[in-house]
Amino acid sequence: MLSIKNIHANVEGKQILKGINLEIKAGEVHAIMGPNGSGKSTLASVLAGREQYEVTEGKVTFLGKNLLDLEPEDRAREGLFLAFQYPVEIPGVSTTNFIKAAVNEKRKYHGQEPLDSVAFLKTMKEKMKLVEIDQSLLSRSINEGFSGGEKKRNEVFQMAMLEPKLAILDETDSGLDIDALRIVANGINKLHNPEQAVLVITHYQRLLDYIQPDFVHVLYNGRIVKSGTKELALELEEKGYDFITEEADLTI
Ligand code: ADP
Ligand code: MG
Ligand code: MG
Repeated sequence: MLSIKNIHANVEGKQILKGINLEIKAGEVHAIMGPNGSGKSTLASVLAGREQYEVTEGKVTFLGKNLLDLEPEDRAREGLFLAFQYPVEIPGVSTTNFIKAAVNEKRKYHGQEPLDSVAFLKTMKEKMKLVEIDQSLLSRSINEGFSGGEKKRNEVFQMAMLEPKLAILDETDSGLDIDALRIVANGINKLHNPEQAVLVITHYQRLLDYIQPDFVHVLYNGRIVKSGTKELALELEEKGYDFITEEADLTI
């Protein structure tokens, strides 16, 4: 589904990603962990196509297409979804209207008729139940005055509505209390299916108590320095990042 080959990327002229390789197949859940400042969010931003991030080398294939050639909106329409570490507030636009527009844009791109109001509401009700989000939240301006937990829940709801092929969640756990964390993780688990893949980016192993990854990768200093199964996350929890970063520093 996603193939990242030797990606190098700069931010403001500074090299942050120094050769990232990663293969994700449909149905798999991958976790990227790593110390702060390693380049985790930069990788997510490169995949999303954010402007300040310049890819200087490498290739990304998503569902057979050259991802880096696609405009950010088209990446989303192809089925890439990104939940960011710091969700933006959009005053004056309700979540409901925003999602309806996004869902119908995506349908149009794939040559489908727009959903009528009845069908849209029906889907919305189903997904609201799934992520345990309240109707009142959806009629308010996107994220305006939302608590940290409400913002994250709203993102998982948007993801549920858009049914992405690949969902990338960047530090969806930061700032969440245990109840919100459980709801967000449950939402992700319920949405996950064999045709869909998930990439979870997290600094802490805590989220991985709720979302079971098939593979765990450690990103450090712009490279994936270690990959393993979920036992690697437990080892990191126990020993901290030092045992991996010291080894990596010696080999660089
Ligand atoms: P992580 O998500 O692993 O904590 P980031 O990808 O956010 O790491 O950051 C990696 C490095 O890139 C850091 O040194 C950070 O300061 C730098 N960086 C990231 N985004 C920007 C930006 N927009 N402008 C300047 N520097 C940035
Ligand atoms: Mg960070
Ligand atoms: Mg980050």
